Amino acid sequence: MELTEENYYAKGTSWHYMSVSLFKDFMQCEAAALAKLKDEWQPERSPVPLLVGNYVHSYFESEESHQKFVDANSKEMISSRGKTKGQLKADFKVADAMINALKYETVFKALYEPGQKEVIVTGDIYGYKWKGKIDSLNLDQLYFCDLKTVDDIHKKHWSSAYNKYDNFIADRGYFMQMAVYIELIKQTFGVSCQPFIFAVSKQTPPDKEAIDFNGDQDVIYMEDAMRMIEENQEHIQKAMSGEETPIRCNHCEYCRLTKKIELPIHASEIEIY
Ligand SMILES: [Zn+2]
Repeated sequence: MELTEENYYAKGTSWHYMSVSLFKDFMQCEAAALAKLKDEWQPERSPVPLLVGNYVHSYFESEESHQKFVDANSKEMISSRGKTKGQLKADFKVADAMINALKYETVFKALYEPGQKEVIVTGDIYGYKWKGKIDSLNLDQLYFCDLKTVDDIHKKHWSSAYNKYDNFIADRGYFMQMAVYIELIKQTFGVSCQPFIFAVSKQTPPDKEAIDFNGDQDVIYMEDAMRMIEENQEHIQKAMSGEETPIRCNHCEYCRLTKKIELPIHASEIEIY
């Protein structure tokens, strides 16, 4: 199956290619991830954060992409009632501020702008096919950039894997994403590229940062992430093919919705997260 601009995000391709977002879904709750993949269930979620992220992304991809995005989503983006009728809704005014916070930054312009945008990469990771899409890839200078919109760059997130607070890079699985992208670029183009993340926050005014992955701890986190893939993906693939039962996390939206009370559990043994 050939991956193209048109079918990259289509659900059908996920049965042929694993991706970081799908893998992360499975690590959170296998039962929910599979139900979503089979179109049996969709989480109740506001589309706004995703739209804000795509709005910012498309701006830095090209003028044409941004216009296409705005045309396709204007109903969600433009207020249709009250005093603000005809104006951009508040979330997208914030998105404009995020764009402005980045576009005049010298480091951002020097690193993000020259690269080829939205490059599809594929490869074999521990015996299975994977896909990825690189926001900005510079094969001449051997690096790539990913653009991330985030509530607050400095917010702390509890990590039960490491038993400590971590930042958004670890919490959102971006060490895994960067490690996988390094590997897929290597297999697609035969070169080793170094990753950068440009993060911009939804705060007023937006915070912004250029992030590399050259620290000793960064390398350990990326290796841990690859090991996590190696250890878990066989079972995930078997859950997808129906050979093994997907494990329920028992507390996510999907698990709560489909839960049945069985025998009473001991009061002192209620799981906490
Ligand atoms: Zn669950």
